[in-house]
Amino acid sequence: MVISARTGVLCVIGNPIEHSMSPKMHNAAITALDLDLVYMAFNVPPGRLEGAIAGIKALGIIGANVTIPHKINVMQYLDEIHPLARNIGAVNTITNVDGVLLGSNTDGLGAMKALKECNVELDGMNIVIAGAGGAARALGFTLAPEVSRISILARRERKSKQLARDIKMANDSTDVEGFSMAPSIITRQVRSCDLFINATPVGMHPNESECILENDWLQPNTCVFDLVYNPLETKLLEMAKAIGCKIVHGLDMLVYQGAVAFESWTGICPPISSMKQAALVALDNRK
Ligand code: NAP
Repeated sequence: MVISARTGVLCVIGNPIEHSMSPKMHNAAITALDLDLVYMAFNVPPGRLEGAIAGIKALGIIGANVTIPHKINVMQYLDEIHPLARNIGAVNTITNVDGVLLGSNTDGLGAMKALKECNVELDGMNIVIAGAGGAARALGFTLAPEVSRISILARRERKSKQLARDIKMANDSTDVEGFSMAPSIITRQVRSCDLFINATPVGMHPNESECILENDWLQPNTCVFDLVYNPLETKLLEMAKAIGCKIVHGLDMLVYQGAVAFESWTGICPPISSMKQAALVALDNRK
């Protein structure tokens, strides 16, 4: 990679940012495609967000990812918000189109591509999402038009019912319901679903021994998708694999949400294998 006065800039903003795997993934794609671009990471404290967004415009930065804690607050500083991101209530990608900043959310699309890559046919599925935070919102709104039923399980029932109402409002023909995480409810919902998605941090490093489900709640014909990507194979995925379930890794979603953003900035579909390899190395270096 040779940086010159013509090199275009992409970036991620967040606080903290030093653990982000995005620079490694995106620079791997840039190198593989031999593009005159570079992807940087900028630590932006909350009080500096407005200035950072003005800076994206002023400096002609081509595109940016937005991560914790700015995904919601950033929306007020952008020129346009994609309807899906508006529904989700968060932006993780900014595309600078001739000085107009467009906000979108690629998490749900990344998840959908990860599922399709594993040959999971969503059409008509009965799915369960554990969690009612940002990732659950992104998946719920993105998958709702594809599936026939979504059950949201959250430890605070009020949050799951609110999210279910929000998704239902935008997707009238999908059956969407919110529940608590009482064991009797999880058992019933999980035993009858086609796809179980963990959208909570349960099982994430350093709590690798934790699992959102008990051993005998899954059926072998259920597909299990864990959004947690550190560790690569969580206890939930290990358990699901052992009983013969099809499994989908959170790392694939991470790579695909990045790939969707990359395509929106460059118009080029990036090489997934290069991005994934870089993400695996970055994950390994975290240990
Ligand atoms: P979030 O907005 O903080 O939401 C987390 C959700 O999990 C909330 O509903 C929270 O409930 C629930 N939760 C937390 N601890 C729990 C526990 N011990 N038992 C039951 N529920 C619990 O976080 P997020 O952004 O949605 O992220 C969720 C997970 O997805 C994280 O592990 C994140 O790393 C992962 N993720 C992965 C990708 C990817 O590309 N693979 C992308 C985005 C997120 P309360 O509201 O009651 O706290």
